Amino acid sequence: MHIQSKLPKVVTTIFTVMSRLATEHNAINLGQGFPDFPMSEELVALVNEAMKNNFNQYPPMPGWMPLREAIAEKIEFLYKTKLNPDTDITITPGGTYAIYSSLTAILQPGDEVIVFEPAYDSYIPNVEINGAKAVTINLIYPGYKIDWAAVRSAINPKTKAILLNSPHNPTGSVISAEDIEQLRSIVNGSNIFIVSDEVYEHLIFNEIPHQSILRYPDLLKRSFVCFSFGKTYNCTGWKLGYCVAPAELTKEFRKVHQFNAFSCFTPTQVALTAFLKNRDAYIGLAPFMQEKKDYFKQLMGQTKFTMHESYGSYFICGSYERISDEPDRDLAIRLTKEVGVATIPVSVFYHNGKDDKVLRFCFSKKKETLDAAVERLMKI
Ligand code: PMP
Ligand code: GLN
Repeated sequence: MHIQSKLPKVVTTIFTVMSRLATEHNAINLGQGFPDFPMSEELVALVNEAMKNNFNQYPPMPGWMPLREAIAEKIEFLYKTKLNPDTDITITPGGTYAIYSSLTAILQPGDEVIVFEPAYDSYIPNVEINGAKAVTINLIYPGYKIDWAAVRSAINPKTKAILLNSPHNPTGSVISAEDIEQLRSIVNGSNIFIVSDEVYEHLIFNEIPHQSILRYPDLLKRSFVCFSFGKTYNCTGWKLGYCVAPAELTKEFRKVHQFNAFSCFTPTQVALTAFLKNRDAYIGLAPFMQEKKDYFKQLMGQTKFTMHESYGSYFICGSYERISDEPDRDLAIRLTKEVGVATIPVSVFYHNGKDDKVLRFCFSKKKETLDAAVERLMKI
């Protein structure tokens, strides 16, 4: 049997490729973004309790209502925006799914979506599977800021959406209040939607305020804002997140969701309802992770990598011009096999493979893991 591929250009995601290679070669995995330290025991206990208390059947299609209420409360506390948990919040199996469902809800064949590169690898396939076209704009190297002049010239009547991601994977850049002003001046009076990937909402350093779209009611009215509990609570394998969008947009979002996942794992939703009330657990994540970032960056000073700055996310990038001029993918593979450290080559996040000779390192790891990795990296 032959399938005419809907995604002919897509290959196995780099995260799977590098994690598999790391396992094969017994390498330290600073590639795929996941913590190697345990998540909160209290939260694990709450999930166990929920299961024992028989919260094991389907929750409502849009998600466990008390959890949506707790999310609305948190959003009001953090961003001063009041939402209706019944009509504006949908629990999803992860942030990636929320982004996919948002795009699927709005896109028609021939539509265009503005995507900034380097881009998280699910974005362009998510656009293309809907018959739409990704119009890519490079973030300005090496600070990875948005080129708003380029955005203005890319806008045309086919532009259906702008896909934003802050804090940014893979670069750790973040958007500022000035970026929000630029965005506002571009979309104001247009029919352009915003899909905002904010899965690293609580992973932002130097006390920089997170410029969530949720702060801005005029932007929120055209937006789908996507989050991930996996990132906030160090449990990426939970694959649980949510999408915030105004009622009219959520209505269409749920049409996609109800015939795909329909609903998500109940015990974690019940557990998170209680755990979300503990504000320190999410507020404390930024300083905790910043310490890891600072520690890793300073250690990497002993290697020949030139580290960039990271203002958020799990990631920091480093240039290897002083080490080699080979393509980043080749170096990443060689480092895994010969040095025993897996990383992610940043060129995979460009549709045309633009290679700035930069690797992405995940620092969301135990101190011992970071020490051991840098000790190995010092050898090259
Ligand atoms: N967006 C970005 C930028 C990410 O790095 C991730 C990480 N996995 C996701 C979305 C997806 O989150 P989830 O695992 O909850 O689907
Ligand atoms: N977001 C994680 C990363 O960027 C990986 C998620 C995945 O493997 N799909 O590394």
